[in-house]
Amino acid sequence: MDIAENVRAVQQAIAAVSGGRAVTLVAATKMNDAARIRAAIAAGVDACGENRVQEFLEKYAQGAYSGAPKHFIGHLQQNKVNKLVGRVDLIQSVDSPALLRAIGRRAVALGLRQDILIEISIAGEAQKSGIPPAALPELLALAGRTEGVFVRGLMCVPPILEKNGSNRRYFVAMRQLFVDNGEKKYDNVSMDFLSMGMSDDYVEAVAEGANMVRVGSAIFGARNYAAPQGSAAPAETSGNIL
Ligand SMILES: *Cc1c(COP(=O)(O)O)cnc(C)c1O
Repeated sequence: MDIAENVRAVQQAIAAVSGGRAVTLVAATKMNDAARIRAAIAAGVDACGENRVQEFLEKYAQGAYSGAPKHFIGHLQQNKVNKLVGRVDLIQSVDSPALLRAIGRRAVALGLRQDILIEISIAGEAQKSGIPPAALPELLALAGRTEGVFVRGLMCVPPILEKNGSNRRYFVAMRQLFVDNGEKKYDNVSMDFLSMGMSDDYVEAVAEGANMVRVGSAIFGARNYAAPQGSAAPAETSGNIL
């Protein structure tokens, strides 16, 4: 399992369908330790995305993400917002007015502006995070009235892939939502990123308009839930999403 080789293969597969568009490759780093994350950064991934606040903070303190922008891509509880705002470059998974407001409050207290994406429940699965597409205009309008947040686009986690091609209609629907809402003018909103596609379907997602993909196992191999985590190193920050 060579991380650098895998990163190159993913980059090539993206390039083959992107038609020259820039696509941000976010390494989904959950369950991978600092050494493996550094290998992915050295191989040229554009950013690192973590799912759990505690795991992010531990690896952040180890300097695991040095040189790469940091994204949060998992479900975010409001009581963890203060630990995250200002430490990550992009929170991809904002899925309620209350969470958006809490992020704004913390960002204002720190004197900064937090970039976020709005997570959409595109397949309407009850157990999944994300807002229904119909709720998007209202949340974007709220962002316009909320200091400290800046919406940079949309994100989705479609259903587990059952067969090749089965998520294509969700990607198409996301792309339409992205375009339609990008044409409206809201304060604190710039529809720059459409984050969709994971290891099993990122090629399809890019073909349907994604310009940000979150890829884990195709870079790092299958996650080993039995293995211990981590090693120590200095802390760091980076300023940009890209
Ligand atoms: C784990 C994860 C990914 C990547 O999943 P893979 O199938 O390993 O590529 C992408 N997005 C989110 C939100 C994740 O939690």
